[in-house]
Amino acid sequence: MDGSPVRQSANLILLGAPGAGKGTQARLLAERFGLTQISTGELLREAAKAGTQAGAAAAEIMQRGDLVPDEIVTQALADRLDAGDVGGVIFDGYPRSVAQAHALDALLAARGRTITAAISLDVYPESIAERICGRFTCSTCGEGYHDRFKLPQIAGECEVCGGGDFSRRVDDTTETVLTRLATYAEQTAPVEEFYANRALLKKTDAMGAIGAVASRLSACVEEALA
Ligand code: ADP
Repeated sequence: MDGSPVRQSANLILLGAPGAGKGTQARLLAERFGLTQISTGELLREAAKAGTQAGAAAAEIMQRGDLVPDEIVTQALADRLDAGDVGGVIFDGYPRSVAQAHALDALLAARGRTITAAISLDVYPESIAERICGRFTCSTCGEGYHDRFKLPQIAGECEVCGGGDFSRRVDDTTETVLTRLATYAEQTAPVEEFYANRALLKKTDAMGAIGAVASRLSACVEEALA
């Protein structure tokens, strides 16, 4: 892990449609650059699993493909930022609206941090449903797989931890994906312009193999951290 001050205080945002590969790529970048990946989707799924009141409310909304109310998500994010020394952070799934982009500014300012860069993962809209509907995850270590693009080398066995238990997200259905995409177009797409106006936006071609996208993104992050 690189402990340089720039990386330790980095605040990188990954933007992109559902299924663009934010989770997969954030995981790789976090490992490569020694950053903490904070995924609001994951935080909400954990809250739902833990059965907290906010978690139960969020679960129902997520299953529909709608956005969880700002007060729930922003609180979950604040709690995560304050849970120990997070170091440099890569945000995955937040902000998802211009209001959340403002909330993130305030959250970071209160902690003496500022945004380093927002990197968008650009994919063809036609590819999204296929990407989402085939994906599954190792229940033990969280490694992501895909029915068409990335099956475990040994069927039924996670390549990273050797686990044999996999899960699929309840919101990864064709019906929910359509709502998620509409929500993205309406509420999240304008966030790109918000960061472009502040000269913080970097765009990356996120089509192609996971490794190829990871290389392009890494170059982008190197540049942002330089
Ligand atoms: P994806 O980007 O593939 O849709 P995520 O795990 O990021 O997957 O999000 C899953 C769901 O969690 C979203 O559809 C939404 O309901 C909820 N969610 C995640 N992040 C946010 C957020 N910042 N604001 C509101 N809802 C969120």
